[in-house]
Amino acid sequence: MASDVDIVVVGCGVSGLTSAIALLESGLRVAIWTRELPERTTSSIAGAIWYPYKVAPLERVAGWARRTFLELLPLAREEGSGVTLVRGVELLPRGVPDEGAEYRVCAPDLRELPTSDLPSGFARGFELSVPVCEMPLYLAYLVKRFERAGGRIERRTLREIDEAFDGAPRVVNCVGLAARELVGDTHMRAIRGQLVRVERGSVERFVLDDYDPRGVTYAIPRSRDCILGGTSDEGVEELTPDESVTRAILARCAELEPRLVDARVLSVAVGIRPGRSSVRLERERRARGTIVHNYGHGGAGVTLSWGCAREVLELCRADAAAPFGPSPK
Ligand SMILES: Cc1cc2nc3c(=O)[nH]c(=O)nc-3n(C[C@H](O)[C@H](O)[C@H](O)COP(=O)(O)OP(=O)(O)OC[C@H]3O[C@@H](n4cnc5c(N)ncnc54)[C@H](O)[C@@H]3O)c2cc1C
Repeated sequence: MASDVDIVVVGCGVSGLTSAIALLESGLRVAIWTRELPERTTSSIAGAIWYPYKVAPLERVAGWARRTFLELLPLAREEGSGVTLVRGVELLPRGVPDEGAEYRVCAPDLRELPTSDLPSGFARGFELSVPVCEMPLYLAYLVKRFERAGGRIERRTLREIDEAFDGAPRVVNCVGLAARELVGDTHMRAIRGQLVRVERGSVERFVLDDYDPRGVTYAIPRSRDCILGGTSDEGVEELTPDESVTRAILARCAELEPRLVDARVLSVAVGIRPGRSSVRLERERRARGTIVHNYGHGGAGVTLSWGCAREVLELCRADAAAPFGPSPK
């Protein structure tokens, strides 16, 4: 088969774009095939704060998250990248396991707050700076970076992943939730999330409470607005925003950040996280070539993106150096 690219990446969300850039910038020829352009992907809806959420397994997630943190830091200094470093507070109520301990240490300026500084009802609090990706801007930056380096994005809707072998003998699968249909992955589960975008006002710091029994609660200031969340409804795929949920999110966020009382609502968005029992990042041999799967990042696709993309590159290199044996008859 004659082909002008070495690798086809399927999917143009944050996983597809970062994988494609890692491959392209290593000298490979890469095309992205995608049903939707970035602005219509789940990735475009994300908050998107660097923080692992609803994703497993911990031992791999921690490494991917650390690596991504390190790659986002220089981007936060790059004009027009859409990435900023935002300082804020993570709060923990009494009696919950500290699941963030593994991740939080990535922030060089991490400090535990004295109990006297905590809002009432919380047992511990941590102040730290983490990258926030303003997704519409950040995805546009990634597209530009990919295309400037010679990458090509094509609109194509595949019915099964093997169709991508028409383009190249190696395929990277970054289709998110659509892995259910494209590779018949029965481990995928939808996790619905609703966000409210409000005027930023004087909010400067993020605030995050993962453990509120009424729902995960966070406020993330961006350049021109503030993203408030959220919800996490497993198995729900309804895309219409729920007005009562919007009101509840506004109330919970105003409890944590009083500057948000009466904040003007600009828009409400719903997205479906590509949940999975564990991220699928592995090489698979098929009759027509090799697939590297990179999907199932739950509520942490942005947080893990560069770490996963670098591992995609390593797997593709390993495959070029030592391809799987001949396919079984
Ligand atoms: C409300 C909400 C808040 C979130 N907040 C955060 C956050 O703060 N931090 C964070 O790290 N993460 C967050 N996430 C999670 C994050 O958005 C996802 O993990 C991430 O976007 C997944 O990216 P992806 O590229 O794997 O998939 P997607 O963005 O879904 O991209 C999939 C791509 O595959 C393409 N595709 C699908 N089917 C086909 C087909 N048949 N043929 C060709 N192409 C196809 C699509 O068109 C798309 O381009 C949030 C998610 C939601 C919903």
